[in-house]
Order: sequence, then structure tokens, then C-alpha cells
Amino acid sequence: MKASVYSPETGSPPRIGTVSKCDFCPDMVRKGELPSCVTSCPNGVYYYGDRNEDAVTNGTETVRFSELLESRAAYRFMEELGTEPSVYYLPAVDRAFEYQVGFEGLSDEEIALYKKEARITE
Ligand code: SF4
Repeated sequence: MKASVYSPETGSPPRIGTVSKCDFCPDMVRKGELPSCVTSCPNGVYYYGDRNEDAVTNGTETVRFSELLESRAAYRFMEELGTEPSVYYLPAVDRAFEYQVGFEGLSDEEIALYKKEARITE
């Protein structure tokens, strides 16, 4: 039996009991393809691109990265740690339901933390 070779780029095969994180799919980029998260999302909410080229795409539209950050009030989690995260989050727009529905069963502390991270103001 031949042992499979672990690839740090694809995280494959996954190891049980470990966590993984987004590596921005270098294997897909080398093939000139967008990551699966971008191509498989039916709502086009994932944008992928190059900060140095100031361009990102969700597979349907290509926009300036800097303008997207500015116009959609993008933010990063835990920036205060100084790790320069490369993933930005865009606050939700045109919600199909009230966000409070998701707070059921959470403590006031958890709700406050969520609102702080998501920059929800009332
Ligand atoms: S770019 Fe998308 S598909 Fe690739 S590792 Fe990150 S989240 Fe997963």
C-alpha cells in the first residue's frame, strides 16, 4: 500500500483533529482558475484577487479592490493583533431576514461580541 503524500498547499488529505485555514488556493491560481469558493457560490458573495493589482472578481464582475473596500465598508477580524489578515468581510446588504433571528439562544455577551465584530449598530 502506498502512503499518500500530504500537500501543505491543498491540505490534502486532511488530518483528523486538526484545523485548516484558507490558503487562497495556489493550486487553482497556477492553473489560471478561480478558487472553488468563488465559482461555487450562487450569490457571488466571494471576491478573489490581487491586492497589488487592485482588482478582485466574483466570477461575474471584476471591480477595483480599493473601491470595494471603501464603498462597502470592508473590515478585517482582529486587526488589532497586527497579523495583517488578507481576508476582508463586507457587511451584509439587502438582508432577506432580520439579523436578530440568529441571536436566539445566545447570551447578551455573545450578542454584543457578534455586533462588535459585524459592526452592527442600532
Ligand atoms: S480560496 Fe476559497 S476554496 Fe480556496 S482555500 Fe480559501 S476559502 Fe477554500
